[in-house]
Amino acid sequence: MPVVKADAYGHGAVLIARELSRYGVKAFCVASVSEGVELRRNGIRGLILILGYTHPEQFSLLRRYRLTQTVLDSAYAKELQVFGKKIAVHVAIDSGMHRLGERSDHFEDIYAIFRCPNLVIQGAFTHFGNDDTDSPSDKAFTLAQAQAFQAVLAQLEERGYHCPKRHLLASYGLWNYPEFAADYVRVGIALYGMLSTGADTDRCPIPLRPVLSLKTRVAMVKELRAGESAGYGLDFVADTERRIAVLTIGYADGLPRALSNGVGRVLIRGCEARIVGRVCMDQTLVDVTEIPGVLSGDTAVLIGSSGGRELTACSMADQINTISNEILSRLGKRLERILIS
Ligand SMILES: *Cc1c(COP(=O)(O)O)cnc(C)c1O
Repeated sequence: MPVVKADAYGHGAVLIARELSRYGVKAFCVASVSEGVELRRNGIRGLILILGYTHPEQFSLLRRYRLTQTVLDSAYAKELQVFGKKIAVHVAIDSGMHRLGERSDHFEDIYAIFRCPNLVIQGAFTHFGNDDTDSPSDKAFTLAQAQAFQAVLAQLEERGYHCPKRHLLASYGLWNYPEFAADYVRVGIALYGMLSTGADTDRCPIPLRPVLSLKTRVAMVKELRAGESAGYGLDFVADTERRIAVLTIGYADGLPRALSNGVGRVLIRGCEARIVGRVCMDQTLVDVTEIPGVLSGDTAVLIGSSGGRELTACSMADQINTISNEILSRLGKRLERILIS
């Protein structure tokens, strides 16, 4: 059950969902009703599960677009019930992460959700809070989460309620706890060919290869004399004569501003160039003094390979203390998504 929320982690939700549909995928996860509507309006069929909150004013969209809503807790089940028409749902069980879901130790409240006549219960799921480490205490916690979820389902069976579909795992769970695969796995970041960090991606026995490259163009090349500066705040000062390429990408496209002033790197003509000065909204400056022949129109690679070198979303994330998920999901809507098969 691929997770295509946040525009498929920046890859383009419609593009990715269409491609996956061609491979026979028949169930998707999104975060919000508007993401579900976008997929339906673009012809995506099958189950579309909304993992997050939908305001009651938008409940009619759930029916109009045949979207499946997550039941967040027993109070939310009542709101769905009061809507007065049948709504397809999966019930979220909070087994210890304490984000969305009815608490697994509130069995009577969960039982009440299953008795709501307007809820067409197609499944139930839980989500792990720390399935990404192998410390014994984290392992014990995750196993306790799985057991709490399974105990709820067993109790429901005893009372005559069979839950059609069950799911527990996201990407890290698929790696670390494949025994809990159940009916679906909600695969997000791994689907896009990496885990949240480069170290995890390297350690993971599932062979992962990044799906996405991020490329832009050199708009122009500028010669700076020694002592001249460039960019906002005049942050970059040329110590000697320097050649600066102006790239057609900025923080509005999701290139983090934290990569300013020498932190970030790009590949041009197979060589690495340092980001200099401050990343702007629509442009970024890089020092190409050491790269011969850089011209207006050249390709600059921010994520991807060139001349045997590779920059990854994970390495970019590492440089600014975040995770690949954040880098990818913030890629801007101005970037053109092109499918290369
Ligand atoms: C985002 C999300 C996922 C996907 O997580 P990844 O770690 O990217 O695989 C799965 N389940 C829920 C409930 C989520 O919110």
